[in-house]
Amino acid sequence: MDVTIFGSGYVGLVTGACLAEVGNQVLCVDVDVDKIALLNSGGVPIYEPGLDDLIAKNKQAGRLRFSTDPEEGVAHGLFQFIAVGTPPDEDGSADLRHVLAVAAAIGEHMTSYRVIVDKSTVPVGTADRVAETVRLAQHERGHAVEFDVVSNPEFLKEGAAIDDFMRPDRIIVGTDNPRTGELLRALYAPFNRNHDRVMVMGVRSAELTKYAANAMLATKISFMNELSNIAEAVGADIEMVRVGIGSDPRIGYQFIYPGCGYGGSCFPKDVRALERTARSKGYQADLLQAVEAVNDRQKNLLFSKIEQYFQGNLKGKTLALWGLAFKPNTDDMREASSRRLMEQLWAAGARVRAFDPVAAEEARRLYGDRADLELVENRMAAVEGADALVIVTEWNEFRSPDLSAVQAQLRSPVIFDGRNLFDPAQVNGAGLTYVSVGRVPAC
Ligand code: NAD
Repeated sequence: MDVTIFGSGYVGLVTGACLAEVGNQVLCVDVDVDKIALLNSGGVPIYEPGLDDLIAKNKQAGRLRFSTDPEEGVAHGLFQFIAVGTPPDEDGSADLRHVLAVAAAIGEHMTSYRVIVDKSTVPVGTADRVAETVRLAQHERGHAVEFDVVSNPEFLKEGAAIDDFMRPDRIIVGTDNPRTGELLRALYAPFNRNHDRVMVMGVRSAELTKYAANAMLATKISFMNELSNIAEAVGADIEMVRVGIGSDPRIGYQFIYPGCGYGGSCFPKDVRALERTARSKGYQADLLQAVEAVNDRQKNLLFSKIEQYFQGNLKGKTLALWGLAFKPNTDDMREASSRRLMEQLWAAGARVRAFDPVAAEEARRLYGDRADLELVENRMAAVEGADALVIVTEWNEFRSPDLSAVQAQLRSPVIFDGRNLFDPAQVNGAGLTYVSVGRVPAC
C-alpha cells in the first residue's frame, strides 16, 4: 500500500520505517529541510536503537523515501499519517498548529479519496477539527473530494520503539466508518498475526484512550514518588514497600519505581493537556493536578538533597552527572529531570560535568558552550576530581560501577542517586555516603 507520513520525528520515522519493512511504499514528509537532507544523505536525526539499520535497509530497497514537498506527499499515499508534534501551548493545552497545517495541506492538494490517520497525541475533538480544516481548504480551491479522518494514537516507547511498533500490545483505531476501519485493519495486518490486537472504537474514545494511558502511567509514578517521600519521613525503605505492594497482582511490579520525577515529550505535556481539556468542559481534574504537582516537586528533590548535604554552599563545586536523557536508550531531553537539576546547580554557582551514552549532542544543542557545563566521554571521566556524583538516568552501564574507584576520585565521598540503582550497604561498604530516594540515608 502507499503510505505518506507527515512528521519525521520519533513517531513518524519509526512508523515509516516499520510500515516500509513489511512491504509498503512509504514517503515521509517533513518541513525541516535539514532533517530531510540528513535522511536523504544516509543520516538519522534521532537516536533510537535499530532505527538507522531499518531506515537504511528500506531506503535501499526503494520502499522508503523522504521529501519536504507536501504536494508530493498528498499525491503519494492512500493513507496520510499525521505524526507531527503537539507541544504544550502557553496554558498547557495541546498546540494543534502543526496538525492543522498538515490537514490544510492535504485539503489543498488531494485529488482522490484519502484516509487521514491522526497518530499525533491530540485532544478529544481534534479529528472533527482536522476534517473541518480539510473541508475548508477544499472549499477554498473549489474542489471537494471524499476523505475520512481516523484516530490511531501511538503507544510506542522511545528506546524500544521499533519493537513496540512491530509487536504492539494494541492497535487503537478510532473511526465511525466501518469501511475505514477495514482499511486500517488491512494496513496493520502484518503486525496483528499472532492474535487480534486491533480495537476499533469511536473517534473520541480513541483520542481519549491515549491520554488515559499516559495519565495512568504518570499517576503510578507520582504515587510512588509521594510514597517515597512519606517513607523517608517515617523511616521506611520505599524499595521494600515497592516489592511488597508489587507482589499483589492487582498492583503489579511495573511502573512503580520511585525516582527524581518523570520527564520526556509525553507524560508532562499529556497530563497537563488532559487536565486543560477537562477544565475547558467545566470539570476540575483534581487527581491530574496532583500528579503534575507531585512530579514538579520531585524534580527538585536531588537539588535539595545536594544543597542540604553541602549546607547551601555549592559555589565553585563540581557535580558529576551520570545521565542526561529523560530515560535510558534515548537521546531525548525534553522535560528531563537532568535539565531542572543542572539549571538549579548553575544558579547556585556549581559546575556540572556530565556523561550520557547518547544525549551529549542534544545537551550541546540545548545549552551551547557554557563554561559551567562539561560533557565528557565516559562515566569515570565525569567523576575525576568532582565533589560528588549524581545519578539522574538509569542507563544499564551505570548499574554496576567500580564503587571503590568512584570513591577514590570524589572529593566528597557521596553519591546522590535519583534512580535507586544500588544496595545502600554495598555503596556504604565502598566508603561512600549514599543518598537515594525514599530510603533513610546511612553513612
Ligand atoms: P518530534 O518533535 O520528534 O517530531 C515532529 C516532527 O514533525 C518534526 O520533525 C517537525 O519538523 C515535523 N513537522 C512539524 N510540522 C510539520 C508539517 N506541517 N509537516 C510535516 N512535518 C512537520 O515529535 P514526536 O516525538 O515524534 O511526536 C509526534 C507526536 O506523537 C506528538 O503528538 C507526540 O505526543 C506523539 N507521541 C510521541 C511519542 C514519543 O515517544 N515521542 C509516543 C507516542 C505519541
